[in-house]
Amino acid sequence: MKLLICLGCGQHLFDEEPDRCPLCGTASNRFRAEKEIEQRYRVVTSKVTDQVRRLVVEPELGIASYRVESGQDSVWIDCPAVFDRDLERVEAILFTHGDFMGACNRYRELWGTEVYLNELDTGHRFARGHRGPQGPRGFQAGFA
Ligand SMILES: [Zn+2]
Repeated sequence: MKLLICLGCGQHLFDEEPDRCPLCGTASNRFRAEKEIEQRYRVVTSKVTDQVRRLVVEPELGIASYRVESGQDSVWIDCPAVFDRDLERVEAILFTHGDFMGACNRYRELWGTEVYLNELDTGHRFARGHRGPQGPRGFQAGFA
């Protein structure tokens, strides 16, 4: 499967190369193959609180995501745009929206991580095999 990534927003584009990114409108000459993206970009983690870490892609690409620790489990709120196999595993990835699903399918393959979407986003074409709206126990608040 051909996988392109938009340099404007980090959106992953599968099986197609539209003239412009459907999410941010960036022209197709700024789409790059996943392998090139993995070589040029990395995910940087910074502390927000003892239980929360912020993940950003450098150079800047996509949106910030967050790692939340409960003491027992850990989840991401949204997913980095870039696949970085050196990141610490999470039990689940919880999305606040259907766009910027980033590299979640790659992390799911690597870690067996569960991916949860808002029910209204489950029809998204990148959402194959993901679950509905409820997160793992202890992380359901705000996602029901
Ligand atoms: Zn884009």
